[in-house]
Amino acid sequence: MDGFHMKERDGVVTLHCDALDALGFTRHCFTTRRGGVSRGYLASMNLAYSREDKETVDENYRRLAAAEGFTLRAVSRTRQVHGARILPAPQDPADTGGVDGLVTDKAGVPLAVFTADCAGILLADPRTKSVGAVHSGWRGTAARICAAAVKQMRLLYGSDPEDIVAAVGPSIGPCCFEVGGDVKDAFAAAGFPAGLFSEVPGGKYHLDLWRAVRQTLTDAGLRAENIHICGECTVCHSDLYYSHRATAGRRGNMAAMIEIGGTK
Ligand SMILES: [Zn+2]
Repeated sequence: MDGFHMKERDGVVTLHCDALDALGFTRHCFTTRRGGVSRGYLASMNLAYSREDKETVDENYRRLAAAEGFTLRAVSRTRQVHGARILPAPQDPADTGGVDGLVTDKAGVPLAVFTADCAGILLADPRTKSVGAVHSGWRGTAARICAAAVKQMRLLYGSDPEDIVAAVGPSIGPCCFEVGGDVKDAFAAAGFPAGLFSEVPGGKYHLDLWRAVRQTLTDAGLRAENIHICGECTVCHSDLYYSHRATAGRRGNMAAMIEIGGTK
């Protein structure tokens, strides 16, 4: 986990990217399963309201916000549909469509995307003081959702991709991401190199999602040295991270969060 470190405060365990911390104008984290009050297969830091009662999830957010210093009342959340739509936060309450990524240049508005094998990606531009958070599974990755987020930061805030720092959190690794030929075809049609896939017995493939995300970000103009991938596979470490595949869908959701305003 080069360039990342774990933090524990009052039982809340989170993962942080050193390069994002070094920028100094944001607070951010990738959550783990540790530190919440959810029980059973949701134990314990489930952050998805769709999976259990509101009171329990509210308490998890309270504990996370207390440990990390997030502005609890202003959290802006995605409504994920495995698409590539990016919206500025705070979101227009009249907009009820799917959104898999958020961007903002407003201080005190934490952005949250949710994962359990899919990649959560955080973006920060220290020059324009703007940030982004992206949910990228294979569909979103094939649709180059990270490039869509960079484009929004360019259009809305005047960001230069060369200034943007990106951090990719815990997600399913090339060791475990078995997919069929349909997924390989979708990436080929989107112009990705065939080298993202390695053949495994049974006519299946292993997809290197991290490399695909890296490719999208470099194609979008980010410098290679500004892209940080933690390399933690959620399936291999399903004791610490929620994993959809490792548990046949019986799991909670982790969050990747970033907020402009101070560090902690
Ligand atoms: Zn793995």
